[in-house]
Amino acid sequence: MKDESDTRQGSDAEHAFRAEVRQFLDAALTEELRAAGRATVGTHSEIGASRRWHQRLHERGWITPAWPVEHGGTGWTARQRLIFDRECAAHDAPVLFAGGIRNVGPLLIALGSAAQQAFYLPRIRSGADLWCQGYSEVVAGSDLANLRTSARRVGDHYVINGRKIWTTGADLADRMFALVRTRAAGKPQQGITFLLVDMRTPGIRVRPVQTISGEAEFNEVTFEDVQVPVEDRVGAEDDGWTVAKQLMYYARASNTTCGLLRRALRRTTELQARCGTTEPGARRRLDEAELRLAALERIEYAAAGSDRTAAREFHASTMKLLATELHQRITEVALELAGPLALEQRDAMQSLAATPFAHAASKYFATRAATIYSGTSEVHRNILGRQLVG
Ligand SMILES: Cc1cc2nc3c(=O)[nH]c(=O)nc-3n(C[C@H](O)[C@H](O)[C@H](O)COP(=O)(O)OP(=O)(O)OC[C@H]3O[C@@H](n4cnc5c(N)ncnc54)[C@H](O)[C@@H]3O)c2cc1C
Repeated sequence: MKDESDTRQGSDAEHAFRAEVRQFLDAALTEELRAAGRATVGTHSEIGASRRWHQRLHERGWITPAWPVEHGGTGWTARQRLIFDRECAAHDAPVLFAGGIRNVGPLLIALGSAAQQAFYLPRIRSGADLWCQGYSEVVAGSDLANLRTSARRVGDHYVINGRKIWTTGADLADRMFALVRTRAAGKPQQGITFLLVDMRTPGIRVRPVQTISGEAEFNEVTFEDVQVPVEDRVGAEDDGWTVAKQLMYYARASNTTCGLLRRALRRTTELQARCGTTEPGARRRLDEAELRLAALERIEYAAAGSDRTAAREFHASTMKLLATELHQRITEVALELAGPLALEQRDAMQSLAATPFAHAASKYFATRAATIYSGTSEVHRNILGRQLVG
């Protein structure tokens, strides 16, 4: 079933573009890829399907739509990119492992050296390198500037020692963009440096951390005398905070999209039909979610038409906050509909998404994390409050 909510919005050119995208997706998405998209529990789909979908989009020239054309972008407008995202979700496309495409790629285009761009960008586009984010530490989450992992300059290398935590996909990633402390004195925000780290470097150890959803999506990463060439530093030494903030903006702007929310709502409506429930409370909560989502879709669409940086930054925090909280509500309704069967099936089948019931349980647990990563809801309320007050 396709989500038709979008077809009411837009110009003739946008309608034509939507038709072109639909034609491509109908042809390119095999049933196996769609099944992987539907079964997605965490922040990306099963990695094999995610990689195959990446490859297919790369072949079509649509893997990095938001990048400038000279670096492999499509030249689409922000609204065309939004239409593309929504159609991918409506067609159950796999969710990509996209830290390279969405975060470090745009950052290198903005702040990387010519050599970094020439080496890393083609590898991100082709899918040769998957990237993870090494920011958080046990004592540095919301208070990120408190990070302790150290890097000492020795000749033409930095030598890293310390420990990162909650690193999504570190077990799958080829590379990490990491924040390290290069100077202890002064304000905590000063003395941080941004490095690009090859995950195969000797001295790196990755230990998976199992979450309440049943997935081991994130990891603890320890560094013991890990050598990183100085040319893999982005920005100046001790000025990594500026670089990190820019990257966080990209991450927040691309986190939970209305397309993915509509997919979650559609699955919940399908679950309701399958359960045959006529309970009015469930119907009312689904209607309420539909209304909130329709409002968010309009905000997302309007913001995509804005070319003001301040408006886009405000929108990134607003969307992160509202979309992740709505995602949680939708998964709560799904879990209520599925009832005890959800947990029973999930445990019995040893699979997080073997049936719509098991999927409802896994998705409910996985979505608890959405209001924590990429800045907690409280942190985003602080950001929005500061912007509103001036
Ligand atoms: C599923 C998942 C994936 C993640 N992936 C990554 C990753 O790939 N890479 C990475 O580096 N990190 C990752 N993280 C870590 C994430 O960025 C941190 O969990 C997040 O920044 C919160 O930090 P914390 O867990 O230390 O909580 P804390 O910062 O200790 O916060 C605890 C509570 O205090 C509140 N709080 C803290 N400060 C304030 C304040 N100033 N005002 C109001 N309330 C406040 C918070 O909102 C929260 O409710 C991931 C986390 C999760 C859950």
